Amino acid sequence: MTDPLKHSYYAATAPERQSRKEIRGDTRCDVAVIGGGFTGLSAALACAERGLSVILVEADHIGFGASGRNGGQLIPGLRWTASELEAEFGAERADALFDLCWRDNRVKARIAKHGIDCDLKTGHLEAAWTPADFGAMRQEADYLARRFGYQSDVVEKADLAHHIATPLYHGGVYDRQGGHFHPLNYALGLAEAAESAGADIWEGQRAYGIRQTAHGLSILTDWADIDARFVIDATDSWIGDVEPDLGRYTVPIMNYNIATAPLPNADELLPGDAAVADSRFVLNYFRLSADKRLIFGGGERYSQTPPRDIAAFVRPFMAEVFPQIADAKIDYGWGGAVAVTMNRLPHIGRRGNVFFAHGFSGHGALVTTLAGELIAEAMAATAERFDVLADLPSKPFPGGKWLRRPLATLGLLWYALRDRLG
Ligand SMILES: Cc1cc2nc3c(=O)[nH]c(=O)nc-3n(C[C@H](O)[C@H](O)[C@H](O)COP(=O)(O)OP(=O)(O)OC[C@H]3O[C@@H](n4cnc5c(N)ncnc54)[C@H](O)[C@@H]3O)c2cc1C
Repeated sequence: MTDPLKHSYYAATAPERQSRKEIRGDTRCDVAVIGGGFTGLSAALACAERGLSVILVEADHIGFGASGRNGGQLIPGLRWTASELEAEFGAERADALFDLCWRDNRVKARIAKHGIDCDLKTGHLEAAWTPADFGAMRQEADYLARRFGYQSDVVEKADLAHHIATPLYHGGVYDRQGGHFHPLNYALGLAEAAESAGADIWEGQRAYGIRQTAHGLSILTDWADIDARFVIDATDSWIGDVEPDLGRYTVPIMNYNIATAPLPNADELLPGDAAVADSRFVLNYFRLSADKRLIFGGGERYSQTPPRDIAAFVRPFMAEVFPQIADAKIDYGWGGAVAVTMNRLPHIGRRGNVFFAHGFSGHGALVTTLAGELIAEAMAATAERFDVLADLPSKPFPGGKWLRRPLATLGLLWYALRDRLG
């Protein structure tokens, strides 16, 4: 069945490419990677660069999942603020997390190293939905500057017009370490780089599970058994299909995006060309594409069934922020599943020689590339840096396979209601 959610602006504007459909018999390699999103591709590339033989299997095509459909916002850090991380995990771990997740921009490094053409732009603005949100943002910006020497600009309400043409927000923080990009083109660029480094990529090949054998590990795919010393499970929202136990740590929340037709007044809407995300619990996030469309994400649905008309579903959120383009023509509407953990921190770890990283909770565009590279580092036996991100506490959602989603939904609805009550 064709997936109505994948007909995105990104799919429409990615270069023509050959499908990498390899149909092979049983084989073996050092590392088998399951999933062709940012996490799997980054891991495959980094492992191949270390001289390991790599086969990556992707059930559909490269970037089919969240990596090829997201808002393209590159937001330094994790879903927790640095001060929250320090309060919970102490100064030493906070230092290490800060170095990796704020300072170490592996996406920029990959784009530069491989010359990936993906419309990379500089600048991210977090916009405050309430005066209290602005107060908390200012405090955090001060803390980042004092504690880590990390510079961002606190933008008063009166100065927001330099960034965004709406009176809706109460101030914001502009971070020039953040930015935005064309996520599918980035994923395709990573895939090309991985192949150049020697990795084999098989599209249209689903993995059905990981088996321990007398000689190591084996994954069964549509066409072959692949024996490997190491397996990397990078299937994110689908992880429970490959390893049911890991599926208990995330729930998939559907999130939707639209792209308007190119706008003659695009530069007036976002004069600094930054990506913007606001501080609502069900947030609005938006930016301009290279061809001057507004790409706008807003509204979540806890049902897995997409709205019949995605443009009609997202338009009111866009109209609230930018009434001046309330009736703009919308050319594309799409969506995807965001894998969310209970505490909104990614769930990263290893079980024997099976590595996994999932549940980036809507904050994965930057950290997934890092996670993939850290997995490769850990395989090369430099495990300390992997352990900084690995084993962040994570609890499975209660309720087993069938009750997990309704229970999580109840919790999320409560937070969404708090948003509306101000
Ligand atoms: C609509 C939307 C907007 C978002 N916006 C942002 C944003 O602006 N900024 C941000 O930081 N984050 C954002 N995110 C989150 C971010 O996109 C994800 O955290 C990130 O892309 C996850 O990458 P991944 O490689 O781990 O997973 P994915 O990209 O989902 O890749 C998993 C891959 O595994 C494949 N697969 C699944 N099962 C199997 C199997 N059995 N065998 C073989 N292959 C399999 C899938 O087809 C898929 O290609 C957004 C997510 C969505 C859905």
